[in-house]
Amino acid sequence: MSLAVTAQTLQTLHRMHRQLADLHERQAVGPRQVLARSAQLKAAEVALATIQGSVKQSKMAADQKQLQLRSSEAKIIDYETKLNASKTNREYQTLRDQIAADKMATSVLQDEILEALERIDTFKCGVSEAEAVVTKSKSLLVQVKTGVDQEEHTLHSEVARIVSAIGEVEQDLPNDSRETYQRTVKSKGADAMAAVESDSCGGCFQKLTGNTLAELTMARVVVCRNCGRLLYMPDSRLPKRVEADSISQKSGH
Ligand SMILES: [Zn+2]
Repeated sequence: MSLAVTAQTLQTLHRMHRQLADLHERQAVGPRQVLARSAQLKAAEVALATIQGSVKQSKMAADQKQLQLRSSEAKIIDYETKLNASKTNREYQTLRDQIAADKMATSVLQDEILEALERIDTFKCGVSEAEAVVTKSKSLLVQVKTGVDQEEHTLHSEVARIVSAIGEVEQDLPNDSRETYQRTVKSKGADAMAAVESDSCGGCFQKLTGNTLAELTMARVVVCRNCGRLLYMPDSRLPKRVEADSISQKSGH
């Protein structure tokens, strides 16, 4: 089936639709970059919260041990008072043993408290580092967002320009071809069209018949039977024709 639209018009439309698709692709890049930076910030915030949690837990553990230490020390004082008042040897010996055991426990607790305080100091360094990462991630996100917003502004006007240029060229489509063209473009975008490449469809690479090629060489547009793309012979392979130029001049930049 050949359409009453010239290869030159379709080639121009194909180029413009590819530009449009390219612009849409570039428009999709920005939000992806913002998303990636947001995820990075989120991860930095989680890391900060984790290390802050570790500081809090270590502090609580240290406080707990301090309490234990005080109670042990109080017990020792209590035993020592009782020791002085002890009446029997047996009682004296028992109290001395308890004091020795509690002093040992106290010394262990003191060591553990020191270790806990050292751990807290290490975690605090980690907190500063994690805070720096969060700050950096926040500023990177702002930077990327600003850049993307500016880029989007430019892309948006480029899209508007190309869409209006496409609309202008589409006015050259004869009524009977317009519907097929629009239906195909709606479902395939820039892939609605394909140039002939080495006597095959440039979209699906199906070999074309001699008849189809003959039609295409007459600057006619043919629907590819295999993939449904609107096929056209590229300008470079068409015999020189005067009428073709009116369209490329109108739509060229
Ligand atoms: Zn095809």
